[in-house]
Amino acid sequence: MEKVYDVIVLGAGPGGLAAGLYAGRSRLNTLIVEKGQDGGQIAITDEIENYPGQRVDIEESGPSLIARMTAQCEKFGCERLSATVKAVELEGDIKKIVTTKDEEYCAKTIILATGAHPRKIGCENEAKFTGKGISFCATCDANFFEDFEVYVVGGGDSAVEEAMYLTKYARKVTLIHRRDTLRAAKSIQEKAFKNEKLSFMWDTVVEKVDEGDIPNMLGKMWVRNVKTDEVTVIEADEDDGIFGLFGFIGMIPETGLFEGVIDMENGYVVTDENMATNVKGVWAVGDMRKKSLRQVVTAAADGAIAAMQAEKYLSEME
Ligand code: NAP
Repeated sequence: MEKVYDVIVLGAGPGGLAAGLYAGRSRLNTLIVEKGQDGGQIAITDEIENYPGQRVDIEESGPSLIARMTAQCEKFGCERLSATVKAVELEGDIKKIVTTKDEEYCAKTIILATGAHPRKIGCENEAKFTGKGISFCATCDANFFEDFEVYVVGGGDSAVEEAMYLTKYARKVTLIHRRDTLRAAKSIQEKAFKNEKLSFMWDTVVEKVDEGDIPNMLGKMWVRNVKTDEVTVIEADEDDGIFGLFGFIGMIPETGLFEGVIDMENGYVVTDENMATNVKGVWAVGDMRKKSLRQVVTAAADGAIAAMQAEKYLSEME
């Protein structure tokens, strides 16, 4: 008979890795599956300053924090699998996951920690210019825009923080927001309004993007004022030929695989306070879960709770 794990954790962001750590420390036979790199969204976060217990005398990046979480899981014996899951069977005592290579893995419990991905800006030609001027990751792409002009779409914590980060590279950063007030935390706003390289375009949405003088590179965009309906064409500076456009307008939960089986609201998995889903033996943690605060610390806490609940469930099964 094929191996049956005690726990399979789907996703290796802070929630999944915390679940792995707690499951490993409880000597549960644990497999953590991740399709990309560990860390989820913080894998592309330049600076983390609100994870409790961090040193304040050094800057901590997302990748450095996550590398320590990964090492902790390995120390406590978690197995790792780098694969994309294409199907899941969550009901019944033995759960099954199937990868895109048609390999199957079984477990008595599953912890869902698949996170969320960035929402697209929603303008015409967006796909064509993604990677050719449009980006969703400042940490990954800021250096391509050293001394260029950059635009950021959004008004939440991510947009404002990433816009400030981009001012370290770009000549000028303009934040385009669909309303006239930011959603970002007041402390973040205060810093942003003091930043001389950062300006704001209020009540505005991006409607269309195109190339400018340089073929196949973003060099032109049409923005519309939502109050006046006036459309303005923004063109790259003649000497630059291109500009950058970064989208930070929220996230979409990665929960499509569980539709129809796991209860959700607006695409987010509904759990109780113990991270339990409606399916016995299945818990959900982190950003893919319906919750009020999506942070590394809350994802990690979710993971710890879910793993301890899985341990309790397994001991009651014996
Ligand atoms: P968010 O808080 O949901 O903000 C999304 C922003 O994008 C909002 O300002 C929203 O405008 C705008 N938006 C949404 N759809 C849009 C569209 N179709 N076109 C134009 N604009 C659109 O998302 P987030 O900033 O990614 O943050 C996600 C979560 O992570 C939040 O809970 C946030 O607090 C947390 N976070 C925390 C930190 C930190 O504490 N340092 C850093 C990053 C993220 P409206 O305001 O008009 O709705």
